[in-house]
Amino acid sequence: MSERKVRVRFAPSPTGALHIGGVRTALYNYLFARQHGGDLIFRIEDTDSNRFVPGAEEYIIESFKWLGITFDEGVSFGGNFGPYRQSERRDIYKKYVQVLLDNDKAYIAFDTPEELDAKRKEIPNFQYDASTRMTMRNSLTMSKEEVDALVAEGKQYVVRFKIEPNEDVHVHDIIRGEVVINSSILDDKVLYKSADELPTYHLANIVDDHLMEVSHVIRGEEWLPSAPLHVLLYRAFGWEDTMPEFAHLPLLLKPDGNGKLSKRDGDRLGFPVFPLEWHDPKTGEVSSGYRESGYLPEAVINFLALLGWNPGNDQEIMSLDELVQLFNLSHCSKAGAKFDFEKGKWFNHEYILKKDNAEIAALFMPVLKENGIEAPMDKVITVVGLMKDRVSFIKDLWGTCKFFFVAPMEYDEKTTKKRWKEDSPERMLELADVLEALDDFSLENQEKVVMKWIEDKGYHLGNIMNAFRLTLVGEGKGPHMFDISAVLGKEETLRRIRRAVEVLK
Ligand code: GLU
Repeated sequence: MSERKVRVRFAPSPTGALHIGGVRTALYNYLFARQHGGDLIFRIEDTDSNRFVPGAEEYIIESFKWLGITFDEGVSFGGNFGPYRQSERRDIYKKYVQVLLDNDKAYIAFDTPEELDAKRKEIPNFQYDASTRMTMRNSLTMSKEEVDALVAEGKQYVVRFKIEPNEDVHVHDIIRGEVVINSSILDDKVLYKSADELPTYHLANIVDDHLMEVSHVIRGEEWLPSAPLHVLLYRAFGWEDTMPEFAHLPLLLKPDGNGKLSKRDGDRLGFPVFPLEWHDPKTGEVSSGYRESGYLPEAVINFLALLGWNPGNDQEIMSLDELVQLFNLSHCSKAGAKFDFEKGKWFNHEYILKKDNAEIAALFMPVLKENGIEAPMDKVITVVGLMKDRVSFIKDLWGTCKFFFVAPMEYDEKTTKKRWKEDSPERMLELADVLEALDDFSLENQEKVVMKWIEDKGYHLGNIMNAFRLTLVGEGKGPHMFDISAVLGKEETLRRIRRAVEVLK
């Protein structure tokens, strides 16, 4: 068993946008697969036709493309174990439902919803199981002829799993250790419905994991209660020797207070819970996404990787490749992970710093364009290099860098009051003359010449620089003065100084 090839799967149901917790599940599967030279499968679990949402599958695929999580097989990727969309595997499931029926591990039940409701009213805490099944309308209580006749007639039925009571079921979980539950608390789960000729999640999930040779099931904690049932199903099929190992990941918790992270928390506190913007086709509601909110995919990956796992030291910044090296499934935490979205912002800032200025500039270009600015790439790269340490999002560069591209139209009142002295107009005109005389307008040369001029004249350095800043920026902020003038160039610098003098005289 230990030499078994690692094959894991991410198996979403296309019921809407992919929640960020689902992204983390996919990421952990990806890291585990890559680390073991295994395969990652993308399977679509769409047997619940009532919950199907058009566009969800495409959305999920696009999300992973953006994030850089790659699959080896599955829907849209191909592979030898297909089809990978469960709605295309009806005949396979039918065959396996029949295997269970033939081996007395499952039975056909005709109880209508009304009959079941009546039972629930009659018996408190009614459960369809070993203690009640012999009082119901099913193939255990009816003759074979009767059952065959009803089926032939087209009566709707379900196939239920016949769970033997009073048995301790052991689930070995890589993260949680041994989980034991008694089979008597389980009900005879519906495995198949004749109405749509489709299996339920439980049967399809087990049959597919078996046929696709899945070695490890890594999924969210919400599936832990299903695990004992799944173990029993593997056993009923006689597949215990190839049963996958389980790992149920910790819940993602609200940033504040207790409980599971929900979309409402995101709306309330102002952060996305979906990787990409999502347009709900039913309600028309638009939900924000990490991509559209200005997050870098690398930052999202790094942030999510640390929600439920850590490398055992205080290293926080890790590339996808490093994560593949360091990740350890058995070191994931059992306790839920608080979704600290401020930390997510911090990661984005760190990745903006880490990335090449040219790469950030390319991402900033469309923002400039939106603001009506066409600027040469080399200028944008320089500006990004000067300013990127001040922002957490690329779109925020505009607010911080605007003055590099647009001359100030007015001058901040407070700054002017404080920094524009009586002699400022005269000094600034002098400075303009000094700068105009320069052939070499490099930062270094400007600095050298201007400093010497200030010294020779005995001027107040602070006063000159503050006034200079006001003329170029329109307020008191910005990087080193000569960085600004060097980027603006001689002509623009002179124009701005002289215009400010004109306006502020
Ligand atoms: N289709 C289930 C989901 O939507 C898959 C659960 C599992 O991984 O077994 O999460």
